[in-house]
Amino acid sequence: MDNEVGSDICERCVEIFAIGNELLVGQVQDTNSYWLIRSLTALGARVRRAVILRDEYDEIADALTSALQRRPRLILTTGGLGPTDDDLTMRALARALGLDLVEDPLALEMVRKRYENLARTRTNITAELNTARRKMALLPRTGTPIVNPNGAAPGVVLEVNSSDTTIVSLPGVPAEMKDIFGTSLQPILARTIGSGGYVEHTLVLDRGDESRIATSLQEVQATYPAVYIKSRGQLLEDGAHLTVVLSAGGNNLSVLRDDITKAEGELVTNLQSMGYGVKRIVENQATSLH
Ligand code: ATP
Ligand code: MG
Repeated sequence: MDNEVGSDICERCVEIFAIGNELLVGQVQDTNSYWLIRSLTALGARVRRAVILRDEYDEIADALTSALQRRPRLILTTGGLGPTDDDLTMRALARALGLDLVEDPLALEMVRKRYENLARTRTNITAELNTARRKMALLPRTGTPIVNPNGAAPGVVLEVNSSDTTIVSLPGVPAEMKDIFGTSLQPILARTIGSGGYVEHTLVLDRGDESRIATSLQEVQATYPAVYIKSRGQLLEDGAHLTVVLSAGGNNLSVLRDDITKAEGELVTNLQSMGYGVKRIVENQATSLH
């Protein structure tokens, strides 16, 4: 259930914004959101929204303003941190938060070091801090830069006390984003989401017809509200099958495991009494993708 505007903090909730025109004309596939969704889910987060936005100041600022009103614990953005004029994430973030955009000395130092290193190893690059490069050190006033070991533009962390939300802006380049996620972001994830996990059990039934099992799924779902039960029709080599996935994420893995096992037991009993053969049970307990 999404939080309504003005209500309590949405615990373990995360919203993701992938920013870039290239994503909305199909030049580049938004793999960042998919990777973040899987990685965050594995940690027990509840990803409530993942939206692709154009490189447009108003659109980004408006999307962030609305996200803050829903009070997730964490908002992640990817892309738009680079030196070019169409990289607008910091400006839009500053507007959404009503903050000035200022040159951050630590961020400037990160950018300076990056270009000094590049100038040392590559003949066609100078270390000069021109306006475009300095732009990557402009952050909303209360933002803290995060070092980006594989790229020039630092990431940024912002605490929004009025909503208990942390905003983290990550680079668009997938390798840079993943690297920061696996290092500097970990303490922030521990603080905002906790140290939980995710459990998933998959049942493969020996025939199709989702409508026959709908009531049974509903009943078990009502008994175990913390377990998400999702059926999917599937065409395997030997004909139509149904897949039922039971999943749960949160802070207490042993409770999750217990809940899922009980829900699965009830469901299997019900389905077998209806004549279904449950062909395969796969347990996938992801706690990390790294
Ligand atoms: P840069 O310094 O490279 O400008 P940036 O943070 O501004 O970094 P973008 O310019 O938005 O990032 O994206 C850089 C490249 O990263 C894009 O050309 C694209 O190939 C890739 N990229 C951006 N966003 C995504 C995404 N959501 N999924 C996959 N790849 C992406
Ligand atoms: Mg860019």
